Amino acid sequence: MEERILTCIGCPQGCQLKIKLDGKKVLGMEGNNCKVGEKYGAKEVVSPERTVTSTVRLDSRRLRRLPVRTKTDIPKDKMAECMKELNCLEAHVPVHRGDIILKDVAGTGVDVIATRDAEE
Ligand code: SF4
Repeated sequence: MEERILTCIGCPQGCQLKIKLDGKKVLGMEGNNCKVGEKYGAKEVVSPERTVTSTVRLDSRRLRRLPVRTKTDIPKDKMAECMKELNCLEAHVPVHRGDIILKDVAGTGVDVIATRDAEE
């Protein structure tokens, strides 16, 4: 049996979660003040995910980099591959907030979208 200690990021209280694990099975949890913390802690120790926010090159005279993010969370172990793909990418104006800039980043099935408009 393994024990992991995490800080919950569900709200500013930052509860310290003590999670007992057997492999990938959560046996118990202490320290969470609500169900959000329970859900976060269980997901974080079994299959952690994150939303990636970054920028990509843009062929605009006014704006050199376009802010982007993954549409939803992706597995944490795919973040480096995601960043590598974004570093090789150039977006083309005009771009509208929410436009898909890259489909299926790092084979996750998740698209990367623009988070602002950009004109020439
Ligand atoms: S367990 Fe609940 S109260 Fe505690 S930090 Fe997480 S969300 Fe906030």
